[in-house]
Amino acid sequence: MSLFDPINGQRFFAPDLPGYDKLLGCVRCGRCLSVCPTYELTRIETFSPRGRLSLLRAVEDGRLELTRGVAEHLYHCLDCRSCDTVCPPGVGIGELIVRGRAAAEARHARPWWLRRLLDVFLASPARVETAAAPLRLLQALRLDRLVVLTLGGLPGIGATIRTLQAFAPRLSRPLRRELPRVVRASGEERHRVAFFLGCLMNVAMPDVSRATLHVLARAGCTVLIPREQACCGAPHDDQGQRATALRLARRNIALFESLPDGIEAIVTDCAGCGAALKEYALWLADDPEWASRARRFSARVRDVTEWLDAIWPEELKLDHEPRLAVYHDPCHLANIQGVRAAPRSLLARVSGLELRPLANGFPVECCGSAGIYNLTHTARSLALLERKMAAIEAAGAEMVVSANPGCLMQIAWGARRANRSLSLRHVVEILDASLPKTAGHDDDHVIGMSTKARKRGDSKNEF
Ligand code: SF4
Ligand code: SF4
Repeated sequence: MSLFDPINGQRFFAPDLPGYDKLLGCVRCGRCLSVCPTYELTRIETFSPRGRLSLLRAVEDGRLELTRGVAEHLYHCLDCRSCDTVCPPGVGIGELIVRGRAAAEARHARPWWLRRLLDVFLASPARVETAAAPLRLLQALRLDRLVVLTLGGLPGIGATIRTLQAFAPRLSRPLRRELPRVVRASGEERHRVAFFLGCLMNVAMPDVSRATLHVLARAGCTVLIPREQACCGAPHDDQGQRATALRLARRNIALFESLPDGIEAIVTDCAGCGAALKEYALWLADDPEWASRARRFSARVRDVTEWLDAIWPEELKLDHEPRLAVYHDPCHLANIQGVRAAPRSLLARVSGLELRPLANGFPVECCGSAGIYNLTHTARSLALLERKMAAIEAAGAEMVVSANPGCLMQIAWGARRANRSLSLRHVVEILDASLPKTAGHDDDHVIGMSTKARKRGDSKNEF
């Protein structure tokens, strides 16, 4: 009997979990236990990377029934990928757990409302914008609390609605529709890049992406912005909706292939999107039509900090008001993309900014945001958030700088819960506020925010 022959009622469906040989690669050394946040919180083996791999293997071997409880165990993982940074044989634990979720989906589907949210709304930026419009109105009229009072007691979804209201940032007018297709470099064009606008950045942090485009232009980049781009697929992949994630990946690859030649990089200011875009090569590795196209696409993806650090013009000096800050490493940037030095190196260029170390070492201590983990596993997410807030407090920081929308919103939530005044900024916002004054550039108009406002470091974002 082949390892991939299904035993009815017991095993994953083999084509969904092609990494059985990788499961065998775990030598049970236990290195991953010391860096796994869920193991640290519970001290239970099945909440550890090694334990999760053992569950997958037991199901594949037919020794354990694939019950809903087993499937749920895979969702206790934050997908923070700290384990991957220390695993000696390089098993690829995080990817295997996510593949296990997709395989389990056929037997134990995610809740209906979540699947609907992912398939109907989150697959299309236009639909995200449509769905965000009434929420924006409710927030503006301060009626969101009324919704919580009305629906917050509903069985199954009430707790999620309550957490969402507490956590959600103030939504803004979407940026996508007002963006030009091209933002020209200020002065001489030194580079030509494409920009990937994340769905969350579009409706929740448009000023961050405005700052990104402005900084790229000032650093000599002409930026092409294909407006037809789809969601990166990360939320779908995270929640076991593999087929949708792959469909979105193929669509984005084809779209960016259609841009004119000469694009040096595909830049994004969302670490979560960047991690997914860089993993397209892995996601589509077994697809004969798309594998090489996905590899070419992923090889060009750069986090904005990674790109700017590589091309920053030495003559462009940065000056900021004095601030004591810490930099929080997003798991999806540090652990998955391996980008740790670039944001620090950029921030070190900013005079006036004192960057203090955050007691999280490496691998990164997750803040508990982790996609929608704070909605689906709120208590554990809050425990991790409190640990992060204590580290920020211990560093004596008045500002937290990061590079991922989810982390910024989560830490802002932590500050609100602790009634603590804390300034939250994306790296590009710091750079943008620190640029030398200019007489004004074309991009000031098209990106829609005045030089004066940027110089003050003003942001309409309320994380
Ligand atoms: S570090 Fe890697 S090899 Fe060691 S127990 Fe964890 S998954 Fe297995
Ligand atoms: S991805 Fe994070 S939470 Fe999941 S097993 Fe690895 S270290 Fe633990």
